[in-house]
Amino acid sequence: MDPQKKLRLLSKLARFECEREPDLGRCIYNASTPRGRKPILKTMLSTYCDKNCDYCIFRRDRDSTPRLFIKPDTLARGFMELYRRGKVQGLFLSSGVFVHPEVTMEKLIETADILRKRYEYKGYIHLKLMPGVSLQTLEEAVKLADRVSMNIEAPNEERLKKIAKGKSLRKEIIPNITQVSKILENYERKSHITQVMVGVSDESDEEILKSSEYLYRKLKLNRVYYSAFYPVKGTPLENKPPESKMREHRLYQADFLIRDYGFSWEELPFEKGKLPEDRDPKEAWAERNLHLFPVEINRADYELLVRVPGVGKETAKEIISRRLRGALKSPEDLRGIRNLRKILRYVTLMGRYYGCPSSTNRT
Ligand code: SF4
Repeated sequence: MDPQKKLRLLSKLARFECEREPDLGRCIYNASTPRGRKPILKTMLSTYCDKNCDYCIFRRDRDSTPRLFIKPDTLARGFMELYRRGKVQGLFLSSGVFVHPEVTMEKLIETADILRKRYEYKGYIHLKLMPGVSLQTLEEAVKLADRVSMNIEAPNEERLKKIAKGKSLRKEIIPNITQVSKILENYERKSHITQVMVGVSDESDEEILKSSEYLYRKLKLNRVYYSAFYPVKGTPLENKPPESKMREHRLYQADFLIRDYGFSWEELPFEKGKLPEDRDPKEAWAERNLHLFPVEINRADYELLVRVPGVGKETAKEIISRRLRGALKSPEDLRGIRNLRKILRYVTLMGRYYGCPSSTNRT
């Protein structure tokens, strides 16, 4: 097969949703990277996979998946053509696991090595890491990539076993993620991320966010991504309903609370393990903790300000900067601040309350 055609096919297959949206243009996507937002080609080295994860288009037993393998030098050459034509500015390279995770990783590393050495490519590379590889292999991958990722897929071992019997968080994924975090202590500006699938293993939001907190605080991951499950025909989960995008959205909002706003998962407003879907989790948390409000905006420190519904990191800094220039006495002094009506519900200005409980905008 013509190498460019093969690369196009692998790139389409690399994004599961390309089964639904079979257009190569959608396989080049704008991703936020440690170097800013860039058009990235996400592609696969191999669609052969020895594993049999229940949700996956590449699972071993799915007969209708086209099975393709592209050699590292062919992939590198094809990518460089796209790069030189200005179509892409980065590569996200993944693969099914073939022969052995070490063998697969060796080929992924070889591809990145060709790009860096033969083509002197200095742009963005995101390498997917195969679980169960050696420390030396992880070191080589981290050295070549700007970003590395190993997906946890489920929040704990029990949930993972339900959907991917050939994978183990305890034996392979968490030990490898721990090793990568250690390696990354020797680098600046490289990032380490993971992904969890939402709605595939009957997991609760509480389980997911508890595991995210562990990944951020103990294992120092830069980001956890949440991906709402969508069933793939010809897999054991083909009749499972897709997960709602709203659940995914609420998980991202709650994730921000843990990652950036100092919340712990135990503080989040779960109802039987679920986040409320009809409102922002910070607002739901505030409604459960009305005894903490209103806060005096002229005295609240940064950590308290970012807990006020409607106040993000930039808004908190802006409020602190304005009050350094003089006391904030009325809503006029907060003119131009985003979400002001919502914020006024939870604060006082020099002891006076300007909020209107019914004015909350739910997002
Ligand atoms: S190991 Fe990866 S590519 Fe293979 S079946 Fe599982 S999720 Fe799919």
